[in-house]
Amino acid sequence: MTESSVVYLPSPEFVAQANVGPEIYGRADADRLAWWAEQARRLDWETEFTDVLDWSNAPFAKWFPGGKLNVAVNCVDRHVDAGKGDRIALHWVGEPGDSRDITYAQLKDEVCKAANAFTNLGVRAGDRVAIYMPMVPEAIITMLACARLGATHSVVFAGFSSAALRSRIDDAEAKLVVTTDGQYRRGEPAPLKSAVDEALGTGADAAASVAHVVVVKRTNHDPSLNWVAGRDVWWDDTVGEASPEHEAEAFDSDHPLFLLYTSGTTGKPKGIVHGSGGYLTQTSSTFHNVFDHKEGRDVFWCGADIGWVTGHTYIVYGPLSNGATEILYEGTPNTPNEHRHFQIIEKYGVTLYYMAPTLIRTFMKWGRAIPDAHDLSSLRLLGSVGEPINPEAWRWYRDAIGGNRCPIVDTWWQTETGSCMISPLPGVTATKPGAAMAPMPGISVRIVDDNGHDVPRGEQGYLVVDEPWPSMLMGVWGDDDRYRDTYWSRFAEQGWYFAGDGARYDEDGALWVLGRVDDVMNVSGHRISTSEVESALVTHPDVAEAAVIGASDETTGQGIVAFVILREGITSIPDSFEQDLRNHVAVEISPIAKPREVNVVPELPKTRSGKIMRRLLKDVAEGRELGDTSTLVDPTVFENIRSRRR
Ligand code: ATP
Ligand code: MG
Repeated sequence: MTESSVVYLPSPEFVAQANVGPEIYGRADADRLAWWAEQARRLDWETEFTDVLDWSNAPFAKWFPGGKLNVAVNCVDRHVDAGKGDRIALHWVGEPGDSRDITYAQLKDEVCKAANAFTNLGVRAGDRVAIYMPMVPEAIITMLACARLGATHSVVFAGFSSAALRSRIDDAEAKLVVTTDGQYRRGEPAPLKSAVDEALGTGADAAASVAHVVVVKRTNHDPSLNWVAGRDVWWDDTVGEASPEHEAEAFDSDHPLFLLYTSGTTGKPKGIVHGSGGYLTQTSSTFHNVFDHKEGRDVFWCGADIGWVTGHTYIVYGPLSNGATEILYEGTPNTPNEHRHFQIIEKYGVTLYYMAPTLIRTFMKWGRAIPDAHDLSSLRLLGSVGEPINPEAWRWYRDAIGGNRCPIVDTWWQTETGSCMISPLPGVTATKPGAAMAPMPGISVRIVDDNGHDVPRGEQGYLVVDEPWPSMLMGVWGDDDRYRDTYWSRFAEQGWYFAGDGARYDEDGALWVLGRVDDVMNVSGHRISTSEVESALVTHPDVAEAAVIGASDETTGQGIVAFVILREGITSIPDSFEQDLRNHVAVEISPIAKPREVNVVPELPKTRSGKIMRRLLKDVAEGRELGDTSTLVDPTVFENIRSRRR
């Protein structure tokens, strides 16, 4: 078994200072709704809610009905009002080496100015605003200005094509687009506004909903910068000139705060809608509990892009609602070289570090001499999100980055869940490498079979959420049927949310998320999860990353097909390599889990958020046309993969 029985206990020092202790579970279990109401009261409400949850129109929830609040005021103004205006909110680090520190008082001024400028451009509560920007402070300022005005933002990752941007603008009927002239990509400035121009089109083809485009100057180099008079305005001329005085209005708890498209790992992206009071309650509470955040002391760094939900929840709304000081880094981890992250940790004394497994595996591939060259002693907690983390990567993370002293929180959640749902609590949980361990206090999940019966410990089933939760999605933008079909039809009778992921409780009751349900293979009647075989493959010393899929197979139902990339520095492999890896998996898991085929490839296809796109590998292995590739980083990887396939 790859699943280890070794547990890592939090150190007594960590336990002694932790924000929450084990009693939190009992308290939340005793009265779930009362516990969430208590969490909601960590926020400032202009009008107190009259109830905790209205589930009468299920599966459409209303959390904290009757309550009114302003999300931006909760993230910014209230800290300034409490005398913390001089605290740094953002240590922004630009890719080329420029940087800016922004205090809460400065952030408040900037957000108010942007709110006034957007109002002048015709934005009103309920309107949609598209944000297509790199990781610059103005992106966060824009999100908060929208929140302040009650305008619903739709952030589109700035690496997406103009076609992807256009479809998201049209779907949301965005009135305003905020962008930058250009962005830095691996050390070089590249145009960005040109993609907005292309997306918006001209004449009969023009995006009808968009009245204005606000442009932040970032790279200031595009010689061919196009300008549409009447439509395009510079940030400096609008926001820059606006008044920093702005009176914020409070909005209903279920006022739509943002919409965001899922990363498209399993199919066409869905426009997920999130509200205000419920979303901010769980987002703010989980940030405090999961990351053990200490106001005024910690320096938090979440490495996601604001184009993903992780960036929304744990760069913008979670940290800022808690008055945190955090890093906002614009660039890639290897610009100008592989030391970049570790230099930032040293320079700013980062204490809480929250990254994706794909990055940890990349660090492993680069080798541990790189982190070893730095003083990482400021770190006191590590987090992981986005995919199951292989136990091997987990142990490496703990050792090479965390100096064997930092607890690791492996947080499971989705765009749809809004914030963290399953995770260890750092001062409480004895963790196992690769396991997300337990639902958060106040969250109720089950692992069930097709008929909705709980599966016994040790067996895998479907992960469902059997009670509504505060930061749950409010729906799919403009498509109530898709909302019901995708999430609530599978277990309609029971009224459970179907997460689409497979999971298992092990013999000790630890919860393991095993990836997508579609990623569970059926080989000669044995159910084997792709993540387990991948985890076994990466324990081989020559393998850096692996992706496994089940391809249809006449004899066995499905056959296991593996794609692996080699560790840096491995230039030749023996002829027996494929057989070696097959035997390695047989030893690590079982002979039935042996891949039918192992392909050594230069790269794996990933979504823009760094997840392996197994469905496309399956298309390759089964000889089909590729499905929707719109969210893929680099479609040309398939030429390489096809040519290397035996
Ligand atoms: P789409 O829904 O369009 O296919 P997506 O599911 O990749 O895209 P996200 O909402 O960004 O979009 O990702 C959520 C998914 O990521 C989860 O359903 C799960 O499969 C995976 N995931 C996230 N965190 C973890 C984790 N800690 N452990 C295991 N899996 C995780
Ligand atoms: Mg999903």
